[in-house]
Amino acid sequence: MPFLFDAHLDLAWCAVSYNRDLTQSVEEIRRAEQHMSDVPGRGRNVLSLPELRRAGVPVCVATLLARCGVDQKPQLTYSRTDLEHATPAIAAAAAHAQLAYYLALQEQGHVRLIGTAAELDTHWQQYVAAPDTTPLGLILSMEGADPIVAPRNLEQWHRQGLRAIGLSHYGRGRYAYGTAVEGPLSAEAPQLLSEMRRLGIALDVTHLCDTSFAQAVEIFDGPLLASHHNCRTLVPSDRQLTDEQIGLLIQRDAVIGAALDAWMLYPGWRRGETLPEVVGLDAVADHIDHICQLAGSTRHCGIGSDLDGGFGNEQTPRDLRRYTDIQRLAEILSARNYSDADVEAIFHGNWLRLFRRALPA
Ligand SMILES: [Zn+2]
Repeated sequence: MPFLFDAHLDLAWCAVSYNRDLTQSVEEIRRAEQHMSDVPGRGRNVLSLPELRRAGVPVCVATLLARCGVDQKPQLTYSRTDLEHATPAIAAAAAHAQLAYYLALQEQGHVRLIGTAAELDTHWQQYVAAPDTTPLGLILSMEGADPIVAPRNLEQWHRQGLRAIGLSHYGRGRYAYGTAVEGPLSAEAPQLLSEMRRLGIALDVTHLCDTSFAQAVEIFDGPLLASHHNCRTLVPSDRQLTDEQIGLLIQRDAVIGAALDAWMLYPGWRRGETLPEVVGLDAVADHIDHICQLAGSTRHCGIGSDLDGGFGNEQTPRDLRRYTDIQRLAEILSARNYSDADVEAIFHGNWLRLFRRALPA
């Protein structure tokens, strides 16, 4: 079983917004939510900290996720109340609440924040040698930069451990347009990007709309990743990468994390209607293989599962009922004649290489 580096998990958002105790088992969380019906994913969670350990995950990229602005819908919020009047200061407060959750877990010995390349290497070696007792390593990322009140505040976020930023999420963000809308970077975005470069914060292009994507990668010449992103050729939607965008990411030596949200794996998936039976983990292998064929190697593929990121197993492939099932993907790739070394590169090697380069020494 190859160790897995998961480049996208909304752990704190999941815990703070859904009031989930991630230190419990998957079954315990499901039981606690048995009678809840506020969101479709209730009682259908696939992950928890013990589950990540069982799946062999030494490190993940863990997000801070909070949006603001007039275009935002009243879903996916910190308190799931109406967001229409959320301000940058409110988004900053919500992101700090999620950071506080990670720090509390660290205090309790469940996780360990990783801020440098040396810490990443030491942690990885320790986890591989003692996978039953080493805490989960977290690289801190922000999904949507709305909580950064002004670019000059980035230094403070960096001191608190922030190492990657995606400028936008859904809708129009304060720095860029995201999924389901289309438009350019904001006037403040270039300054934020140059602060990121100065401090050593990687740019996550996931969720950028096409125009903002093109502008951001032009301005930012530092390390790029697409943390949880699939291919538009296979599943048409602005949420996915075009072959041209994939080509540019390959040129920049980026890594693209395959997302396991069934909505991004099955063309025409309708949230709340389509059932998991229509799609399997082999579809994830199709997206990975598409990128490998464009690149001529496995060097640019990873996994950014996005699991429990606002949905449960009502919206995952039929053969992924809980997080540990992700290991079936290794068997699928092997059956497609991917060598063990290639499977390991996809499961963790490529992300390790990228973050060794992207993190401060
Ligand atoms: Zn996302």
